[in-house]
Amino acid sequence: MEEEIWKKAKSNAADILQNNEWVKWVHEGTEPATTQAEKDLRIVWEALSRKKHCAMCMNLNGCCFPRNNMPQNPLHNNCHYKLKPISEITVTAECGKDKFEEYIFVEEKSKGKKQLFEGCGYGIMDSKWLKQEFERQAKEKYEKGNFTLNKLDDYGQRINITIELPRKDKIGTLKLTVGWLVYPDGVIKMVTAFGGK
Ligand SMILES: [Zn+2]
Repeated sequence: MEEEIWKKAKSNAADILQNNEWVKWVHEGTEPATTQAEKDLRIVWEALSRKKHCAMCMNLNGCCFPRNNMPQNPLHNNCHYKLKPISEITVTAECGKDKFEEYIFVEEKSKGKKQLFEGCGYGIMDSKWLKQEFERQAKEKYEKGNFTLNKLDDYGQRINITIELPRKDKIGTLKLTVGWLVYPDGVIKMVTAFGGK
């Protein structure tokens, strides 16, 4: 009997480790910025208020992270963030439609990425599939807390997510470190160019 209780306690502990608690960063008194334009506006406000209002804090408002993989709390002295536990997170990963068609596969803009993709057998006609696949993998990994924190700046928290693609030219995997910017309520948007591995 005692053994059963012990077993149960151990499995509960394992569950807790796996389902690490998610929290929403709430900066009371400001509306979360849900678009690039709104993030820009927060940066203007900071300047207009002579730094009384902090763009970084305003742009992190509403963003969600697992407790074991989140920005340092508090962010600065007199920071008045509240971390609100949330029971679940529904992630939307957005990779701009034009990222591949109008950027990565365009020689002058791609900074070598065109060669990287083409070298693995991908071309401009795969743009739609690549966008969907990037979004699918990023959603899945962010939901599991499987990302690394990158730079935190006035625009908010940037994270890196590893995207893996099957090579078409030979057996193997193309691994890419892709940068995303965290938006409120489980939204992440692909921001950067990325490095191949
Ligand atoms: Zn602040």
